[in-house]
Amino acid sequence: MITQNIIGFELSSQSSEKIYAVDPAHQINLPGAFSPATKDEVDRAVQKAQSAWRIYRNIESKRKALFLTSIAEGIENLGDVLVKRVMQETGYTEARVLVERRRTCTQLRMFAEIVEKEVWRDITIDEALPERTPAPRPDLRKINVAIGPVIVFAASNFPLAYSTAGGDTASALAAGCPVIVKAHESHLGTNALVAEVIMNAAMNTGMPDGVFSSLNGDGIETGQQLVMHPMTAGVGFTGSLKGGRALFDLGNKRLKPIPVFAEMGSTNPVFLLPQKVAQDAQKISSQLVESITISTGQFCTKPGILVAIDNFETQHLIALLEATLAQITPAVMLNESIAHNFHKGVTAVQAESTVRLSESNSNNDLILGSALLAIVNADMFIANPRLHQEVFGPFSLMVLCKDFAQMLDVAQSLDGQLTATVQATQDELLWVHQLTDIMIEKAGRIIFNGVPTGVEVSAAMTHGGPYPASTDSRFTAVGNSAIRRWLRPVTFQNFPEGLLPEFNAILDKPNNPINP
Ligand code: NAP
Repeated sequence: MITQNIIGFELSSQSSEKIYAVDPAHQINLPGAFSPATKDEVDRAVQKAQSAWRIYRNIESKRKALFLTSIAEGIENLGDVLVKRVMQETGYTEARVLVERRRTCTQLRMFAEIVEKEVWRDITIDEALPERTPAPRPDLRKINVAIGPVIVFAASNFPLAYSTAGGDTASALAAGCPVIVKAHESHLGTNALVAEVIMNAAMNTGMPDGVFSSLNGDGIETGQQLVMHPMTAGVGFTGSLKGGRALFDLGNKRLKPIPVFAEMGSTNPVFLLPQKVAQDAQKISSQLVESITISTGQFCTKPGILVAIDNFETQHLIALLEATLAQITPAVMLNESIAHNFHKGVTAVQAESTVRLSESNSNNDLILGSALLAIVNADMFIANPRLHQEVFGPFSLMVLCKDFAQMLDVAQSLDGQLTATVQATQDELLWVHQLTDIMIEKAGRIIFNGVPTGVEVSAAMTHGGPYPASTDSRFTAVGNSAIRRWLRPVTFQNFPEGLLPEFNAILDKPNNPINP
């Protein structure tokens, strides 16, 4: 396993310091003494990415697609070595890791197809109207181009699908942007294995030196230096509101501000309408318990707030939820800091005097997350912003409303969300309509009779939402359109055809004097 920083096709370990990934289940250092990147290594990685960008963005799409599919093959070829390392570094089950590996490779292959189809170029041509009066119209040709070197912060909860070769990296490489990954300190070994695959794929498919780099960090400075580097053109981030906001502010504070696409999580409210609860309590309970506890609740789409009308049927649903959650075996959380934040979040909710916390399947091991439900009345919820914050882990807060009008008040009180869900019968569609009318202002995806976890990777997906769910609600971090974050339009006015290489390539014209 490569323990150095990967800077293009070069391995580098300037620092004498070493950092280690920790097995959260056993709290021991795992094999691999990794070198944190120095300021000089950060600079070299971005300089190389800038030089590579000038070549890479002009490489024909077929070859870029081959690069992406080679990465997918390389990841699959790592087999058990990768799967075991991810399990050790995250505490995730093998089944979870296999699903995530499949998703990662599917995303890479999906972006390979997208890049070849060229639709993302969004070519628009307004032909010249020389006879137009009072002024003739010039010939205008618009095309999307890559923005430049992109920094990707690996996500703690998606060591494969939103880390080294995950959705941010795949979409940026597809757009023609070189990528520098800032490894997450929790999964340095996973990052090293995948980063080596990307480096080899780049060499084997003839990509320029610097199209990909991977840097380890010891603290937040590495990430800050990467964001502040004058040649950095964009940032992809998945993680905490605190971290995402800090990086967004840094990106805007630069002499030349850059876009920082941070996906920072959400409480994903689920509105439970009364007739549906009366009809389907058992089914709703099973769906919700699975969605709250899958991967120990460490999903950005975990339903963190449930909203229902306080009546006999809802009390029955609460009893079902509490009983089922109590049967879930407490599981290892991703790392000590995330486990600590989880316990802190639960304690903070508990401290609110009118919040009732369900009997937990309690444990004394602080690395374990026990599934929990808390219950609060809507007046208290609306008045208390602390209760609106995400508790990252197997926890959800049931908000009890006096009536439907108060349910609308709760909806109105919520911040920006990745998702909102409504569970309702056909007879309750008028209410669904009213809730949707509020949630369309607040959420990126609205789900009917389902749960928010399980984010499909496809063309119609939106994974993003108004702040604080993400820093730019106009874009998605998942699915085909994720590529749009790394593009900007350029319009050519009255250009000779021979000088429009990208148009010519795409419009299948052979006369192309600029392409390498
Ligand atoms: P994080 O603290 O936001 O860190 C993510 C990455 O960003 C790490 O590489 C971190 O560097 C870097 N970073 C954070 N703050 C930074 C800053 N001010 N300047 C430069 N770089 C910075 O997220 P995490 O480690 O994954 O987990 C911490 C908490 O975030 C969790 O307890 C949870 O509450 C939340 N979280 C939410 C989601 C979600 O999808 N909703 C996902 C993951 C985490 P270092 O590693 O060097 O610190």
